[in-house]
Amino acid sequence: MKYCAHCGAEINDEAVVCVKCGCSTTKTDLPVVNKVNTLDVPSAGWAVLSFFFTWLGAIMFLVWRKSSPQKANSCAQGLAIATIVSAVFSTIVSIVWFFVFATYFDDIFSYFL
Ligand SMILES: [Zn+2]
Repeated sequence: MKYCAHCGAEINDEAVVCVKCGCSTTKTDLPVVNKVNTLDVPSAGWAVLSFFFTWLGAIMFLVWRKSSPQKANSCAQGLAIATIVSAVFSTIVSIVWFFVFATYFDDIFSYFL
């Protein structure tokens, strides 16, 4: 058994017309509108923005995850590159500071010794 889409009456599965309201039981939905988001293209601009403003990239990634997956992907790429670059950069800075302080402490030690 199925139910009439118009009046909700129980009708035969084979029925083409509802016996209660007389409406057609065939799907009367409008043709499915092409829901492909034509604006959803990979965006280098958003990747760059996400690189410099990771908070913005993270927000836009969450906003676009469903509606514009390509744009969300661009944001994710920008975030990923920013993460890698900041990791490499902080490692380099740590190494540089290590040598700066090593030299500095060397001077202190030679002062006392
Ligand atoms: Zn009906």
